[in-house]
Amino acid sequence: MTSRRTVVKSLALAPLLTNCAMPATTGPASTANYTLSGVPLRRVKVSEDRVIRTIAGLRPFRRTGFNVSAERRNDKVFVHNYGHGGGGITLSWGSSHLAMELATQTPHKECAVLGCGALGLTAARLMQDQGWKVNIYAKDLPPHTTSNVAGGQWSATSVFDTGMTSSAFMTQFEAAQRHSYRYFQNLVGPRYGVRWITNYQFLNGRGELTGNTLPEQYPYLYPQKQLLGPNEHPFPVDYAYHYDTMLVEPAVFLPALMQDFYGAGGTISKREFRNENELMNLQEPVVINSTGLGAMELFNDRDMLPIKGQLSFLLPQPEVNYIVIGNSGLYMFPRSDGVLLGGTYDRNIYDTIPDQGDMREIVNGHREFFDAMRDPWA
Ligand SMILES: Cc1cc2nc3c(=O)[nH]c(=O)nc-3n(C[C@H](O)[C@H](O)[C@H](O)COP(=O)(O)OP(=O)(O)OC[C@H]3O[C@@H](n4cnc5c(N)ncnc54)[C@H](O)[C@@H]3O)c2cc1C
Repeated sequence: MTSRRTVVKSLALAPLLTNCAMPATTGPASTANYTLSGVPLRRVKVSEDRVIRTIAGLRPFRRTGFNVSAERRNDKVFVHNYGHGGGGITLSWGSSHLAMELATQTPHKECAVLGCGALGLTAARLMQDQGWKVNIYAKDLPPHTTSNVAGGQWSATSVFDTGMTSSAFMTQFEAAQRHSYRYFQNLVGPRYGVRWITNYQFLNGRGELTGNTLPEQYPYLYPQKQLLGPNEHPFPVDYAYHYDTMLVEPAVFLPALMQDFYGAGGTISKREFRNENELMNLQEPVVINSTGLGAMELFNDRDMLPIKGQLSFLLPQPEVNYIVIGNSGLYMFPRSDGVLLGGTYDRNIYDTIPDQGDMREIVNGHREFFDAMRDPWA
């Protein structure tokens, strides 16, 4: 697992490690200055005085992959739907679709959904679409959930530890991605804060693809894949892997889901559950458990652990319209609520207090990188 320090340093050193001559940062525009869809590639203006906020959250990571399963406890059926690590926004609709398929095998028509993040809200909406009466119970509501901290790139990254998963899980993982891919495409537009965007992922060495990236493993979920050489893109690295994904803005997506949920007659109660007894007293016969990291204590799931991630946001820059993914953890997502710079990836850390030293390293690493990017319009 790559450590945070490696992540930040590798970004800062990327221009120095490249074998190609450093590109002039200005000059006439060429095809290298556009995505394959024809979108101009503009430089991100990075400086500490453009930082508008720094936040951190805990990815609800499960070593063997997320848990979507059903179990009976006395007279209740629990359907689990948690543990999506760094890919919970991406997987939300698809995982909740699988949970919905389990819940609707019972004869009931009413359920409680525990949790009001991306997983709880999508599960709740899908159950409503099946004609069920749904009540959400959650300790925290948007904007105070981990789902609000997410970057929102549509890519199911860091969802399990390599070598720890079963083949049954990998089948669920594939199905959840496939369902989600279709659900999110129905929501593209400003109302849900979902859009298509080009990604540039930077590769080690001479740009050999390893077969380990998600676009290689699930090629039908990542359109417009192309490996670009040194003069085919404006970035200060040799090789870039170009592909398109969706980008989901949590600050738009989650409130829109809440609005749809209320519109379909749902109720939301702010409530924390401390143990199984409290859950058994719920009136609903079916309980969908979308408590994210909360499941670790509430359901005593020792396969889970938090992975802390920290992000800084720069002032919005509407002309920047592409994603950058570094070769060991760097990323930049241009959102309407700010240009997101990531990030850290610290296993087994439980606090969500941002670290100022990390913030400076992330910002400085990105500044060095983007200052060396070629932008003929700058
Ligand atoms: C820095 C960072 C960047 C990320 N970037 C991306 C990305 O680009 N793309 C992507 O797909 N994913 C990303 N993720 C991952 C994503 O944020 C999570 O996988 C996702 O938000 C998990 O959603 P959830 O609904 O399961 O959990 P949460 O959003 O944490 O919601 C859990 C809900 O359960 C409630 N709850 C918990 N315990 C209890 C209890 N005991 N009683 C009552 N209620 C309880 C909470 O209050 C909350 O309402 C990122 C995460 C981080 C931290």
